[in-house]
Amino acid sequence: MSDLVAAAQRLADELLAPVAAAVDESGVVPRSHLDALAEAGLYAVAGGELAHRTVEILAAACLTTTFVWIQHHGSVRAVQAGPPAVRDEWLEPLRSGRRRAAVAQAAVRPGPPSVRATPVPGGFVLDGEAPWVTGWGLVDVVHTAGRDRDDTVIWALLDAEAGPTLAVEPLRLAAVNASQTVLIRFAGHFVPAERVTSTFPFAEWPQRDAARLRSNGSLALGAVAGCVRRLPADLAAPFVAELDARRGQLDRAGPAELPAARAAAAELALRAAGTLVVAAGAGGILAGADAERLLREAAFLQVFGSRPAIRADLLQRVSRAAPGS
Ligand SMILES: Cc1cc2nc3c(=O)[nH]c(=O)nc-3n(C[C@H](O)[C@H](O)[C@H](O)COP(=O)(O)OP(=O)(O)OC[C@H]3O[C@@H](n4cnc5c(N)ncnc54)[C@H](O)[C@@H]3O)c2cc1C
Repeated sequence: MSDLVAAAQRLADELLAPVAAAVDESGVVPRSHLDALAEAGLYAVAGGELAHRTVEILAAACLTTTFVWIQHHGSVRAVQAGPPAVRDEWLEPLRSGRRRAAVAQAAVRPGPPSVRATPVPGGFVLDGEAPWVTGWGLVDVVHTAGRDRDDTVIWALLDAEAGPTLAVEPLRLAAVNASQTVLIRFAGHFVPAERVTSTFPFAEWPQRDAARLRSNGSLALGAVAGCVRRLPADLAAPFVAELDARRGQLDRAGPAELPAARAAAAELALRAAGTLVVAAGAGGILAGADAERLLREAAFLQVFGSRPAIRADLLQRVSRAAPGS
């Protein structure tokens, strides 16, 4: 086991898991959880097999904390590949977790951009809405996409500060509510050119995106692992085998196969959490019980980070009747 994976396992067991239910109820992930992840070097884990393993381990312990932390890694990758001046200023602070990032991808969704970027002297201004941004109040910057009138995507690191041109509306969620997820409204929000991490034609986005769908799948794998450790051995065993199979499927999948692999992992999380509730009995539905929290979290994983192909596949899986019924 690598040092980072071992550190993640230790934090998962000793820090995150024991208070996951309390964090869920509290409404906000403790900053000390994120500090501990940073101290362990886990803000520098920016992709690859190691990252997937760490996401799964942490998600099995506290999905909400992991969900806030996972938003950071795209910024590290973007800054790593970005202009030298951005790299010099931001790479070390982001990799160490001294500076923490959220992400606002709204502008790269299909159709007209919900966040528009307009060039102005010294940079550009943003207008529009990013409906989902996780980690507000816990991060220093938001890696935000805008699209200009030539359909060029502009990604930039914005200070995570509300003001006259950046308004924030908190969202109340049925699961991972402590993730501090908000809607952001931009009204002529100025972003200096030196904060730009990349620009490219929007036509390139689908291909870039398709190659990156693997990592959120580990949130679902972690959710399954969280159920497995609470199930009686006879009920857990088949889920352990299926968890390994789904992890292998995600690891082997190329861009074309990733949507099906993501859907399969999400469906497994839902089924494992459903099984946990049934096994727990009526007590599992008392507010604050592990079973009800894990079921709510599994529901969240059916919709978070979705794409049309994931959704279509998942709808097939969750809506089909049992064989022989
Ligand atoms: C609790 C919660 C927290 C979230 N936090 C964040 C966050 O911090 N930052 C963030 O950017 N998003 C965040 N999202 C949004 C998430 O990434 C997806 O956009 C969303 O889960 C897809 O929801 P939807 O199917 O209703 O489609 P919508 O969000 O309505 O999107 C419309 C269409 O665009 C597709 N789409 C969505 N995102 C992309 C993309 N990046 N590239 C290409 N196509 C896309 C969707 O599949 C859908 O077909 C969050 C969502 C939830 C539920």
